[in-house]
Amino acid sequence: DPNSRELGLEDLPLRDDLRGGTPYGAPQIDVPIALNTNENPYPPSEQVAAALARDVAEVATGLNRYPDRDAVRLRRALAGYLGHGLDESRIWAANGSNEVLQQILQVFGGPGRTAMGFEPSYSMHPIITGVTNTTWLSVARADDFSVDVAEATSAIEQHQPHVVFLSSPNNPTGTALPLETIEAIARVAPGIVVVDEAYAEFRRAGTPSALELLDSHPRLIVSRTMSKAFSMAGARLGYLAAHPAVVEALHLVRLPYHLSAITQSVAITALEHAPELLGAVKQLREERDELVEWLRAHGFVVADSDANFVLFGRFSDRKSVWQGLLDRGVLIRETGPAGWLRVSVGTPEEMSAFRDALLQVTGG
Ligand code: PMP
Repeated sequence: DPNSRELGLEDLPLRDDLRGGTPYGAPQIDVPIALNTNENPYPPSEQVAAALARDVAEVATGLNRYPDRDAVRLRRALAGYLGHGLDESRIWAANGSNEVLQQILQVFGGPGRTAMGFEPSYSMHPIITGVTNTTWLSVARADDFSVDVAEATSAIEQHQPHVVFLSSPNNPTGTALPLETIEAIARVAPGIVVVDEAYAEFRRAGTPSALELLDSHPRLIVSRTMSKAFSMAGARLGYLAAHPAVVEALHLVRLPYHLSAITQSVAITALEHAPELLGAVKQLREERDELVEWLRAHGFVVADSDANFVLFGRFSDRKSVWQGLLDRGVLIRETGPAGWLRVSVGTPEEMSAFRDALLQVTGG
């Protein structure tokens, strides 16, 4: 039986650039307190869950047919949620914003092309860049994790990247970018500028969204997700707002019927319940601000956060702190620059367990 023979990756005719690679992997460990993937700790209410279930039941009766290939109703609903005078011609949606980002690189990146990012930042940006055979150009953020405008614009002028990634608020640092920074970069960038706003709804007051710049910058893309603020990580729905020509271009690479009828319908119903689903955002922001204060009061270094997570440190052996927390049932994320750890904001009970475990582990 040929299937029983030992076969390793090295025996397969893999693309050369994929050899020796490791898949993206936040560990999925079954723990009492999971604060590692920036999920919303509050599930949809029973009423919303029931509405979603009714939806799925109805869609199920028509599953012999392909879904709306262009997801027009969903894109219209997303435009309505974003406001800013947007309509469905300027919205695109896919299975999570990761797929949105991959489609962007399939259209605007590729062999012989470059994408630039300001690191530390979201680790999937360079991974998707590599998977689409685009060359990654990394520029370091300042010590406070901000993006220095002069440095950024000069790197862009020098390297002329086809795609520039900006994350605001940034993962894993929590840093939001001032609109002036995004605008200065959009002015000099020769290609596409993607502002990854996965955590937009968690921003503190006073930091506007890059959506405000769309009308004046036709090559700007703002990507969003329903995974975080909307409590819908399991539904897989990411989206973007851009010029209609950008949306038209994305049709060139999307697989036909990429968004299932179930996904489209569930997302539309979730958007109809937006006020309720987003109800916990205010509390999560308050909990986040309290966490930052508490960590600082206990002598930790903490990056200012506009997201639903906090980067803190600094530890000479962060791995042992991470492991110590895990031993106490609290899973956080070992990510970001050396010496730092990232914790997602959970319920008050979860944060209390996190604080207790952290003090035990660090002897605080
Ligand atoms: N962008 C950023 C900055 C993220 O942190 C994440 C999720 N960790 C994503 C995009 C992707 O999220 P999703 O695919 O669930 O929309």
